Amino acid sequence: MPITRLLIANRGEIALRIHRAAHEMGIETVAVHSTADADAMHVRLANHAVCIGPPNAAQSYLNQAAIIAAAEISGADAIHPGYGFLSENAQFAEIVEAHGIVWVGPKPEHIRTMGDKVEAKRTAGALGLPLVPGSDGAIHSTEEAARVAEQIGYPVLVKAASGGGGRGMKVIASPDQLESLIGQAKSEAKSAFGDDTVYLEKYLGNPRHIEFQVFGDGNGSAIHLGERDCSLQRRHQKVLEEAPSPVLSAEERARMGEVVRKAMADMGYRGAGTIEFLWEDGQFYFIEMNTRLQVEHPVTEMITGLDLVREQIRIADGKPLSVQQDEIEFHGHAIECRINAEDPFNFAPSPGKVTAYHAAGGMHVRVDSGLYAGYQIPPYYDSMIAKLIVYGRTREGCIMRLRRALEEMVIDGVRTSIPLHKALLQEPDILDGDYSIKWLEEWLAERN
Ligand code: ADP
Repeated sequence: MPITRLLIANRGEIALRIHRAAHEMGIETVAVHSTADADAMHVRLANHAVCIGPPNAAQSYLNQAAIIAAAEISGADAIHPGYGFLSENAQFAEIVEAHGIVWVGPKPEHIRTMGDKVEAKRTAGALGLPLVPGSDGAIHSTEEAARVAEQIGYPVLVKAASGGGGRGMKVIASPDQLESLIGQAKSEAKSAFGDDTVYLEKYLGNPRHIEFQVFGDGNGSAIHLGERDCSLQRRHQKVLEEAPSPVLSAEERARMGEVVRKAMADMGYRGAGTIEFLWEDGQFYFIEMNTRLQVEHPVTEMITGLDLVREQIRIADGKPLSVQQDEIEFHGHAIECRINAEDPFNFAPSPGKVTAYHAAGGMHVRVDSGLYAGYQIPPYYDSMIAKLIVYGRTREGCIMRLRRALEEMVIDGVRTSIPLHKALLQEPDILDGDYSIKWLEEWLAERN
């Protein structure tokens, strides 16, 4: 039975993104929303809408029973979780499938494995992916940590097995800091994730963040769609992403792409996934795998011409991959700017009413956003309110067009990151593609 009615278990721009793909496939959509999002664009556009709870996400977008009930009531035959919220919750995926509803996502067991970073690293190693040197699994004592740290050399990084968003992560410069920083990381992890399992990794000094987009059909076929460079980060949050990476040659892309493609094929991976690496001195080091669609997926869509959400829905429907590896071509360059409702330079949140809104347009310019004039940005959720994605035949042309598009964007009534992006696109290092994951924080520190 093909999918005919898709419930979108998310909000904001990604809910709208999923709605658009579904409608282009002739699939009806069901929006679920909190009371704070009753006037959201995706709710207005969806065929059906169900209110699932109060503003607090724990009682709405994370409320599994309410979402399943909404699917039953509305007659949805599939659920797309988007990113964040329940997208990497293996138990929720199992519950959805147990209700006879199609889960537009990976197999629950793969979500579970990759959600535990210790397990993920072990699995990645077994599949032949290059790893950051570190402890062989969890660290159980300070003595063990000291031994491992001595072996791999300081500085080392202590990371939480259940980590996310950079929480539970500490850089340890010398042996005397081991005990206290591991203790801090453990208690941070315990309170954030309910799991104080930690492990050690070599701390790389000045790497780039390069990630590969993959897709599997769940039956042993897989493809890769090249990489995205997401090195421009603040507090481990990506700010601007581009594809292809300015530092990777076509040969390196093909070589590493084949490594990840084969790993996903061997695993029997199903649906969309992202394999994240740190890259330093020409070497890749696996850090984690995200078993969902990423915020920055549109830059891959721009250079491959493939609709990643459509591909996800097709695979969930039991169809084969729509393209073979040798049919995938990479053309030109794409950059995405994440636009947040916050002060562009001190990052203080700035929710409120959007008094005027005008999206940039023109050739090769895409804006993914649920904004409209009069929209009230609620204070309860992520501050990202729009993504501006621009394509160019060359990186230089892409940057020229991106500057022009940023000039056109109007979001009045709240502060946004648009001035930050404009400033970044004047920086020689950015224009040269010469930046690591440290670059933005150093630049901000100098500026402020
Ligand atoms: P999370 O799931 O919390 O986001 P990740 O493992 O994806 O954690 O790492 C987030 C970010 O932290 C990376 O993009 C990188 O900037 C930094 N990081 C992670 N591991 C290392 C490492 N071994 N050395 C240096 N930086 C690292």
